[in-house]
Amino acid sequence: MFYDNHNHSEFSFDGEHTSVETAASAAASKGLGGLCFTDHCDFTVPEIKAEMEPVVCEVFDVDAQQAEIDKVKEKMQGRIRLFKGIEVGLNIESRDKIREHLASHRFDEVIASVHYLDGHDPWMGPEYYYKGKTFKESYGRYLECLYEEMTWLGDFDIMGHYDYIARYASYPEASIMYRDFPDIFDAMFKYLAENGKALEINTKSYSLDRGTILDSDVLKRFRELGGEAVSLGSDSHEPGRVGTDFEKFAAMVKDAGFRYLAHFEQRRLVMETI
Ligand SMILES: [Zn+2]
Ligand SMILES: [Zn+2]
Repeated sequence: MFYDNHNHSEFSFDGEHTSVETAASAAASKGLGGLCFTDHCDFTVPEIKAEMEPVVCEVFDVDAQQAEIDKVKEKMQGRIRLFKGIEVGLNIESRDKIREHLASHRFDEVIASVHYLDGHDPWMGPEYYYKGKTFKESYGRYLECLYEEMTWLGDFDIMGHYDYIARYASYPEASIMYRDFPDIFDAMFKYLAENGKALEINTKSYSLDRGTILDSDVLKRFRELGGEAVSLGSDSHEPGRVGTDFEKFAAMVKDAGFRYLAHFEQRRLVMETI
């Protein structure tokens, strides 16, 4: 029974085609055990993006989303377990707002991600954030930013898509390999392991044309440093994508020496045997 711990619905600014109900039905048909809705919450959107797409609020309405999840839960009558999450976009400029927001709502699960950094939106492509940087500089800076902000926050459960930054780059190095960034990976893994937090395998990163792969050394090293919690997330923005490639990646997790997959209920870590 797999749990998909990273999904977007119509409550996300970029999830307009996915109702909570259609995503839940898709997950139930695929035989998933549970689905967590982790809509976007980015308080700071870079000016350069805001100029292109004015008036887009990237903070979802938590109360409305949770009410809808409750409604669908009732309708689905136990066919699938649904959870209430948030994907919070870390940013040094939003620190106080993030902390306040998390403290004033109840969630099953909090994913800590970085979508914007240094005034840029990597999604805008090679001419922006990446310009003039080597792959090591681009990816390394992203990993450092994720590490700095998540350790500052502390109040989260899953470290989201560490390889997000590889998705929109154009370097021949399409993947983030452990061997290229051992120091920052080790710092991240120690922190996650010591604090009972999960490393996310975001399967969307590996299903884009870019050819990004999951480096098995990333998993092995996390295990070596005491990591136990690995979370699978499809990062779906449409119902057909829930649970994408979970069997394949669960097998990789098992091969790396893990015995369980993680999910969260009312912010508590739950481990399911693989
Ligand atoms: Zn994300
Ligand atoms: Zn996401």
